[in-house]
Amino acid sequence: MDFIDGELKCLFCKAAFLLLLRDQECLRESGFKHDPRNCRGCKMLIGQSEQISESVTKIGQSSIH
Ligand SMILES: [Zn+2]
Repeated sequence: MDFIDGELKCLFCKAAFLLLLRDQECLRESGFKHDPRNCRGCKMLIGQSEQISESVTKIGQSSIH
């Protein structure tokens, strides 16, 4: 249950962004079980980012193969 501020990398703009402790708690309360993949700016652009970030992940995976 230890949460610390963590630096993540946005899948969308590739920028590093900081996930604050309170953000992680907020995400957990909303049912997110994994780290967010987009920075705040991209998240605001995307809106409900979950579906889009998943499709971005799939595109990324398929381009690897
Ligand atoms: Zn971003």
